Amino acid sequence: MAIIIDGKAVAAKVNEDVKAGVAALKQKGVSVGLTVILAGNDPASEVYVNNKHRACTDLGIKSEIIRYPADVGGAVLEAKIKELNADASVSGILVQLPLPKGLDERRILELIDPAKDVDCFAAKNVGMLALGAPKLLPCTPAGIIELIKSTGQPIAGKRAVIVGRSNIVGKPMFHLLLQADATVMVCHTKTVNLAEITRTADILVIAAGRPGLITGDMVKPGALVLDAGINRVDGKLYGDADFDSVSDVAGYITPVPGGVGPMTIAMLMRNTLTAACAASDN
Ligand code: NDP
Repeated sequence: MAIIIDGKAVAAKVNEDVKAGVAALKQKGVSVGLTVILAGNDPASEVYVNNKHRACTDLGIKSEIIRYPADVGGAVLEAKIKELNADASVSGILVQLPLPKGLDERRILELIDPAKDVDCFAAKNVGMLALGAPKLLPCTPAGIIELIKSTGQPIAGKRAVIVGRSNIVGKPMFHLLLQADATVMVCHTKTVNLAEITRTADILVIAAGRPGLITGDMVKPGALVLDAGINRVDGKLYGDADFDSVSDVAGYITPVPGGVGPMTIAMLMRNTLTAACAASDN
């Protein structure tokens, strides 16, 4: 039976450090603030934004949510982002995705000052990550690295397989695992013989958005399985791993919920602190 990696507990430790860092900056007169832009009324986005707001409040980070209707124009968002870029009390800016149809997501993300891009989605930050010199870390992948480290298992020299190649999880995960000296393979919908590849993984990261995609017979005995998937089925949350069969085979597994999810928010908080520290050093 796999050991369950408790994402809530690992996140709580990160949050403790962030809280202390925020308090220390405040003593020096530096405020730490995160502003989230939410356009439209996607219910999942509403939940995510509220979770981020609660995390900020708990850690002493000033949190602001700016809401717009779904038909907001790109020019309005552009003006607001430029205003926030110039506001010294705002350490981090996050545009909640997905944006309503008709808005050019890439163009809008690129308006955020890279020093305040706490989601690490802007081209400059993605480029720095690919160069191995990131200033801010992509939240979900960085959270997964922390979860692996929490097990005490090494990453260097291990074979890592990532299922999913999105810009948010799969691709940045590749860079972080590579930088940690794993040998990494990335799979997607055109991958032939997925099971044959996942069975070779010492570290298996799943981020496909397909409930139960990975079953026990696709996992190497003893492997670390990090499941980023969040799938709502009949009102219940499931990961991309078929938890019961995978946990019979794996050495470690993250549950859904309570695994990767809490770490994503903890890493966002850490990035906001990092951005505030960097701004106060300038
Ligand atoms: P995307 O839909 O952007 O990407 C999914 C990726 O999985 C694609 O690269 C796709 O391949 C691949 N994929 C889908 N089905 C299969 C399959 N059957 N076999 C192999 N590869 C497949 O999703 P995201 O990366 O944004 O998110 C993935 C999951 O992680 C979702 O459930 C999402 O909700 C969750 N998530 C969780 C977060 C957290 O905080 N825990 C944060 C972000 C996301 P192709 O490119 O060929 O289409």
